Amino acid sequence: MSEIAARPVKTPDLASLGVIRSRPLVIVDVDEVLGLFMQGFGDYLALQGLEFRLERFALFQNIYRPGETEHLDINVGKSHFDDFFRHACGDMALAEGGSEALRDLSRIANIVILTNAPGQARLARARWLGRHRMDYPLVLNSGPKGPLAAAMARQVSAPVAFVDDMLSNLDSVAEHAPGISRFQTVADPRLRDLAPSKPDMHRRIDDWDALRQAIEAAIS
Ligand SMILES: [Mg+2]
Repeated sequence: MSEIAARPVKTPDLASLGVIRSRPLVIVDVDEVLGLFMQGFGDYLALQGLEFRLERFALFQNIYRPGETEHLDINVGKSHFDDFFRHACGDMALAEGGSEALRDLSRIANIVILTNAPGQARLARARWLGRHRMDYPLVLNSGPKGPLAAAMARQVSAPVAFVDDMLSNLDSVAEHAPGISRFQTVADPRLRDLAPSKPDMHRRIDDWDALRQAIEAAIS
């Protein structure tokens, strides 16, 4: 999940990232897809004496001081979010089965990690991915992911799949690149009932083994 403000993002040259034009491409999110972001952010907030209450599928509206009923000021929440990415996002727990699924998919497709994270998180994020055997090309984005996903899809001649937890990103991809196969997945079991879905528009599969099979079928 991410609610950081959009900033202009340069289109990556996939060939320079080692992506082969004629191979299928799988574009994968990190937070709440490959890693348990909400859990990691919640643990970080607890160290700051704050509570992260899983009341809705949102970030800043879920941060409270203990005992209070009004959530923390949104801008204060955002500064904690930036600090989490600066200091603590390298400790995030893995989504079950994600790393293995990508390893299997990488035999038939190129994988590109597309994450909405602030620039200061790049190194920690790349290290986290590498430590968990997911050292695929890493692209940082800001705001809805459709424009960048479309720009990447234009650089390959084979089928493309896109995986994310957030409807806003899936809707954006549907709008900008309707030919991309879209999959929604929510890694943290505690969030699955809270996460809004549009199963008629974007397939929703929360289990990585089943998701891998569905992606394989879509890009083969
Ligand atoms: Mg996400």
